[in-house]
Amino acid sequence: MGLLDNKKAIIFGVANERSIAWAIAQALHREGAELAFTYVGDALKERVVPLAQSVGSKLILPCDVAKDDEIDAVFNKVKETWRGLDILVHSVAFANKEELKGLYADTSREGFRLAMDVSAYSLVALAKRAYPLMEGRGGSIITLTYYGSKKVVPNYNVMGVAKAALEASVKYLAADLGQKNIKVNAISAGPIKTLAAMGIAGFRDILGVVEKKAPLRRNVAAEDVAKTALYLCSDLSSGVTGEIIYVDAGYNIVGL
Ligand code: NAD
Repeated sequence: MGLLDNKKAIIFGVANERSIAWAIAQALHREGAELAFTYVGDALKERVVPLAQSVGSKLILPCDVAKDDEIDAVFNKVKETWRGLDILVHSVAFANKEELKGLYADTSREGFRLAMDVSAYSLVALAKRAYPLMEGRGGSIITLTYYGSKKVVPNYNVMGVAKAALEASVKYLAADLGQKNIKVNAISAGPIKTLAAMGIAGFRDILGVVEKKAPLRRNVAAEDVAKTALYLCSDLSSGVTGEIIYVDAGYNIVGL
């Protein structure tokens, strides 16, 4: 018996085998969940399809989260195939590379809009389509955030501001959807070497600092994040909603 037997989960944000979303997908699969995946563009399709098939997924759909028609198509397909949904994993973020270096003060209007749209509003756009499918069965929605929402991290810039909006959205969504027995939580992950992370100038230096200063004296792996995701997606977290849970080897508690 798995923790997620008979549960249906959709995962947004697998780009390759290093993606945090992929570690989460594997953990959910091990516990019995049936999975659907989305990808953006043909280049990523080639990477995502074999990964998704390796965990038995039959629903592998294109979706740019900045496009409402593509999101609608995904949820229509989920409704048609599964009739309902139990778990939504949102592991998506994007900002132009030039916004992830230099001064935050130089952020462009378009760069700000894009980062906010893809990294923060997208959670609302997905939750809006997911909750009617979770009606009557309860559900769990999770997203991924980073400490740069709370404190200034060099070069994280507009993404830190987008993550602050994302974290506030988690609380507002949790307040709205709690009465439908749907939990909404975020995991604030420590730095992990992924495609998205490598777009941040000086990312390697951050890994070095965490290893020295974090209470556990190490960086976290995507698998550490996946274990907390499993807790949040399962009944083990039945009384937990609206939380931002740190999986960062304790780094966020350190002052000096
Ligand atoms: P990743 O590059 O593997 O995943 C990012 C995903 O976002 C990719 O699958 C990409 O296709 C998707 N994406 C980007 N623009 C999109 C769009 N318009 N429509 C749909 N999908 C889009 O990197 P990751 O590190 O696994 O990132 C996953 C999440 O974890 C992100 O929200 C990221 O901010 C967050 N996070 C990462 C770290 C880290 O250090 N890696 C730390 C904390 C939080």
